[in-house]
Amino acid sequence: MLNLFDTRTRQAQPITPMDNQTVRFYCCGPTVYGPAHIGNFRTFVMQDVFRRVVELGGLPTTHVRNLTDVDDKTIRDSQKANMSLNDFTDKWTKQFHHDCSELNCLAPHIEPSAVRHIPEQIEMVEALIDKGHAYPSEDGSVYFKISSYPDYGRLSRLDERELELGKTANTRSSSDEYEKDSVADFVLWKSRKPEDGENYWTSPWGEGRPGWHLECSAMIHKYFGNNFDLHSGGVDLVFPHHENEIAQSRCACGGDFAKNWFHITHLLVDGGKMSKSLGNMYTLDDLKQKGYNASAVRYVLAGAYYRRPLNFTLSSLDDAKAALNRLKKFDTALAALCVEKEVPNYEQMREIKPSLGEFTAAWQSLNNDLNTPEALGHVFSAIKRINVADLSPEQAQEVRMAFHFILDAFGIVLPEEEKVQEAPAEVVQLATQRWEAKQNKDWAAADTLRAQVTELGWTIKDGKDGFELIPNA
Ligand code: AMP
Ligand code: ZN
Repeated sequence: MLNLFDTRTRQAQPITPMDNQTVRFYCCGPTVYGPAHIGNFRTFVMQDVFRRVVELGGLPTTHVRNLTDVDDKTIRDSQKANMSLNDFTDKWTKQFHHDCSELNCLAPHIEPSAVRHIPEQIEMVEALIDKGHAYPSEDGSVYFKISSYPDYGRLSRLDERELELGKTANTRSSSDEYEKDSVADFVLWKSRKPEDGENYWTSPWGEGRPGWHLECSAMIHKYFGNNFDLHSGGVDLVFPHHENEIAQSRCACGGDFAKNWFHITHLLVDGGKMSKSLGNMYTLDDLKQKGYNASAVRYVLAGAYYRRPLNFTLSSLDDAKAALNRLKKFDTALAALCVEKEVPNYEQMREIKPSLGEFTAAWQSLNNDLNTPEALGHVFSAIKRINVADLSPEQAQEVRMAFHFILDAFGIVLPEEEKVQEAPAEVVQLATQRWEAKQNKDWAAADTLRAQVTELGWTIKDGKDGFELIPNA
């Protein structure tokens, strides 16, 4: 069973469905106003790993992930692009789906769009006003009154950040995103402004549009009711977005809202924040244009522990490529012995539940707070331990099933056969001698041997505990 760190209690909690049947979880989806960057995909890939570990562990899930297709940013950029909001967000939703499938992310079971749930959002605002938790302002906007909800701030521990509700109770924020440290009555419904163009709906408070925070609360209520198992997003969403969702939902509907909270720490690039101005904001397409494939990107994103920042570098993609090739080599060697060459697909694997043998430790690491780097360490140790040549066809089959079960949990797709080119024995021998010389710090010998390998048309790429041979173009 998966034990996962819960942001609210700050403790690992077992993931068990509250209805004893299905783990129902909600992920805040993309704002579809441009291509998602690899930071966004760290979050979506880790949510996918979460789902795979739960499902392969024997529990069905219902995965709901929304599309934020109406907010300050989508409206602003659709107008810049001279497109209707609908056409504009459609275009970026298609791109998002394309990237998700390249990254081998399972499609959510339900993908509600905010624009298609306006009546549900209006209903929630009405309930909040009726119960004294919200008030309309002079201009026809509606705000949530945070002083009416004493539990406000529990998830993000506002008290520890010395932000007191009382001090700021009369300040308001009307934009969807606001400062980390400002606690303000936040907007539920925004009155129509000239800059909104044609993007408005009628409501009891006049023409306007929903605030971003409200969208998720209304869609969660529609698909899950008042209580569900887990809510997830990147760590930037803890405050104010998730705090606001809890306040709205609990005040409007009662119930406890999410039982567990799963937040993914941010991805950094070259040790710093991604930003367009630094030119280090990569999309999947950017990386593909640099010659990397989606499989390597997934490997890097899934292979880092989600509670630590992931420092993304291009060289980590080179390492991922080498690691994938090693996995493929192992698989090819096993497949050569197996009578049945076909590997079950993900859905079949969920049913089969193979015995894990040498891969048991990797599965345990995954179930211990999704410790993916530790799990990968166990995978490579198992590969080193197993001498494929000694296996009978039946044993090879069993090992291969266990190996693919773990690959499925990671969502790793092995590279195509032809990409793994065997180096001739002479080259392997020289490269092995060079590796040993390097371990012995005999740099002169290592250099000479590397030159010989290069001469024979191969490049040595060093990893942490071995080397890879890549044919020169
Ligand atoms: P957005 O499209 O901005 O609404 O974000 C989609 C998801 O990506 C949210 O769960 C964010 O918290 C998450 N996210 C944004 N930036 C990063 C980052 N640098 N690293 C990891 N997750 C991120
Ligand atoms: Zn949300």
